[in-house]
Amino acid sequence: MAVASQEKLRAYTQQYINGEWADAESSETLDVVNPSTEEVIARVPQGTADEANRAVAAAKAAFDSWSQTPLAERTGWLRKIHAKMAERQEEIATVISQEVGMPLGLCRIVQAAGPVKEIEGFADIADNFTYEEKIGNSLVVKEPIGVVVCITPWNFPLNQIVAKFAPALAAGCTVILKPTEVAPTTAMILTEVIHEVGLPKGVFNLVNGTGPVVGEALAAHPDVDMVSFTGSTRAGRRVSELAAQTIKRVSLELGGKSPSIILDDADFAKAVKAGISFAYFNSGQTCSAHTRMLVPKERQAEAVAIAKAKAESFKVGDPFDETTRLGPMVSSVQQERVRSYIKKGQEEGATLVTGGAEQPEGNEKGYFIKPTVFADVRNDMTIAQEEIFGPVLSIIPFEDEDDAIRIANDTVYGLAGAVWSQDEERAKRVARRMRAGQIDINGGPYNIEAPFGGYKQSGNGREHGKYGLEEFLQLKAMQF
Ligand code: NAD
Repeated sequence: MAVASQEKLRAYTQQYINGEWADAESSETLDVVNPSTEEVIARVPQGTADEANRAVAAAKAAFDSWSQTPLAERTGWLRKIHAKMAERQEEIATVISQEVGMPLGLCRIVQAAGPVKEIEGFADIADNFTYEEKIGNSLVVKEPIGVVVCITPWNFPLNQIVAKFAPALAAGCTVILKPTEVAPTTAMILTEVIHEVGLPKGVFNLVNGTGPVVGEALAAHPDVDMVSFTGSTRAGRRVSELAAQTIKRVSLELGGKSPSIILDDADFAKAVKAGISFAYFNSGQTCSAHTRMLVPKERQAEAVAIAKAKAESFKVGDPFDETTRLGPMVSSVQQERVRSYIKKGQEEGATLVTGGAEQPEGNEKGYFIKPTVFADVRNDMTIAQEEIFGPVLSIIPFEDEDDAIRIANDTVYGLAGAVWSQDEERAKRVARRMRAGQIDINGGPYNIEAPFGGYKQSGNGREHGKYGLEEFLQLKAMQF
């Protein structure tokens, strides 16, 4: 694999523990690969269990003082971090476009501006939150849970870090961040900013490394009070098993296989086009992507025609080209995974409407996948049950409204979904019967203040807004 030239390669050799950059204990490193060019563009240390333990010790030592620091001071620190991060917003967008492959224009809005703004948003939420309540002869207070480990994935790397570290610090918790090893550079940028503003030592710590080594050491550590985890259901299960030994709180944000129900009275053109766009957002590498499109049996042909045209309008290629709508998969492993799912769909008898497992024309290098649509998908097929995490949409025909709801809920996941109908009351009725944490009605836009999280094996946590702050608080009752 090619290595980027020295000035382009970000070679990190240190971890951030107890307010200091410390040389990594191991000389082993983890390569970060640009999925469009296949070049190594960064390296981070392969952390050790000992570094994880040192970070926990630092966070534990800092907790008493940080949790007693007045709220306005804590949120003041967040505002300082926000201001410095805002200065580096363009760099953040560029780095994520290089590491994840999302088109730069989208990265600027979704991966950089949004999460940077949310740091300040959490300061406001924490400032206005009610931490105490009188219930009869009791005073009920909400207090920080303690030492928090944040483990994050690569698909929205800064967004997922912000949704954890910012409310945790605002709540009065101290933090150890174990970011993704696939796209870790924005975690380094955030840590540089935190060091620059001079946050008290030990309040925020960063240990790079793999899940099985650093992630597991942190999840198992007896001095950690909570693990906030975003990633695959497989890794979330492992984290829960380890955390259970010391009865930690575990907040899980996991995978999905979300349905979009297009009812017979919906605006079909609008619903199908929006469905494709959301399924292909970030090249389909979005946990809440609506990857199962449920349509009335008698209107499947109409939906397929609209979906085909829309999918084929997506230009695949270099995320730095302004006309690109679909970047690569994040890694060669991910590309292979998606290809094998496409082949599986064909083997199991789904109709391939457009796309396929071959490398898209004109993109010989890079981990690209053709925008793909399947029709005549049955919900028991592998492509309807398993999270593919690529630009692959399954169109599933249904008999009637009850059948649509049954199919929508026939999954181990329950992260998100959509309902389309001209009759808003009907759409709401259907949405209430769907077992998932976020349902968009007729394309209702994403709301950063609304709770985000899963039912069933999509997890048990809620992030963003005041709900995201509450995750890091626990209750105490004092009787008088
Ligand atoms: P992943 O589970 O492979 O990795 C996520 C994080 O967990 C990484 O930091 C990784 O190093 C760590 N990890 C891996 N194994 C571990 C272990 N045994 N112990 C402790 N930590 C471990 O997931 P990914 O490939 O980075 O991300 C994609 C997945 O994340 C998808 O399933 C997606 O749906 C999910 N996701 C969910 C949400 C949500 O909010 N629900 C958001 C984004 C992504």
